[in-house]
Amino acid sequence: MNATESFIKTSKPVVVSTAPLVQLRDVHLAFGATDVLRGIDVEVHRGQAVSIIGPSGSGKSTILRCITGLLRPQRGDIRVGDTAVHTLRGEVELIALRRRVGFVFQQYNLFPHLTVLQNLVIAPTRVAGRSKTEAEQDARSLLEKVKLAHRADAYPGELSGGQQQRVAIARALAMRPQLILFDEVTSALDPETVGDVLTVIRELVREGMTCVLVTHEMRFAEEVSDHVYFTEAGRIVEHGPPAELFNRPRHERTRSFLQRTL
Ligand code: ADP
Ligand code: MG
Repeated sequence: MNATESFIKTSKPVVVSTAPLVQLRDVHLAFGATDVLRGIDVEVHRGQAVSIIGPSGSGKSTILRCITGLLRPQRGDIRVGDTAVHTLRGEVELIALRRRVGFVFQQYNLFPHLTVLQNLVIAPTRVAGRSKTEAEQDARSLLEKVKLAHRADAYPGELSGGQQQRVAIARALAMRPQLILFDEVTSALDPETVGDVLTVIRELVREGMTCVLVTHEMRFAEEVSDHVYFTEAGRIVEHGPPAELFNRPRHERTRSFLQRTL
C-alpha cells in the first residue's frame, strides 16, 4: 500500500458509535453587536458526510471557520478529535489543527505561478516536512483520483473553473487531513463543470472521508449526506437524516426554504 492508499479507503466503513470527530456545543459568536451564531450544536462522526444548508447569511461559513480555528466563538465548545479548538491560542497549535482539517472554498485560490503538481507538493514538503519524492508521488495519484493526471504540468490559469476546483480538492487531500470542509465549492462554477466536481466529492464520501459540506446543491446533499443541518439566523432550526429532512421537514421554515430551492 502506498502512502495515499493508506489514508484513502476503498469502501465506506461502518461508523461505530464512538466520540464524534467534530463536536460543536452551544457555540455563540458575534461580530461586534451582530449575533451570527446563537447556540450551534453540530456533531460529525468519523466517516460521515454532514451537510449544512440554509439561507445566505445564516452562519454556515462561520461554522466552518470556527471548526478550523479561524474564528473563535465567545461561548461554547468546539472539539476536533482530542483538540479543544475554542481554547487554542498559539499559532503553532492552530497550524497543527489546520493540517488535520482540509478546507476548500468557493474561490479555489491556487498559486497561479505554480504548476498543478507544484500546487499539490508545496504544503506537504514545506509544512508537513515530507520528502519531495514522496509528495510528488502522492500528488500524482491524487491528480489521477480527480481525473487531472494529464494536467500536472499546466498552470491554474490554463484550466477551467471546475478543473481548478478539483485541483484545490486534491491539494487539500495532499495534506492527508482527518476531515475536509467544503464551503459552496460549486457556487462559482459554470454549470457544465459542476458535475465533475460533485463526482469527486461523491467518491471521497463513498471512500469514507469525513466531510462537512455547505452547499446549495440540495439534490446532492440529499444523495450523499448521512445527516443534514438546516440553519437560519445563526441557529440550527432542525437536523436529521436527509430522507427525513428533505421529505418530511418538521418546521415551517425548513419547508419554505426547501420549496424555494428544490
Ligand atoms: P452564510 O455562509 O450562511 O451565508 P456567513 O457565516 O458567511 O453566512 O455569515 C453570517 C452572518 O455574519 C452574515 O450576516 C454576515 O454578514 C456576517 N458576517 C460574516 N463575516 C463577518 C465579519 N467578518 N464581520 C462582520 N460580519 C460578518
Ligand atoms: Mg457562506
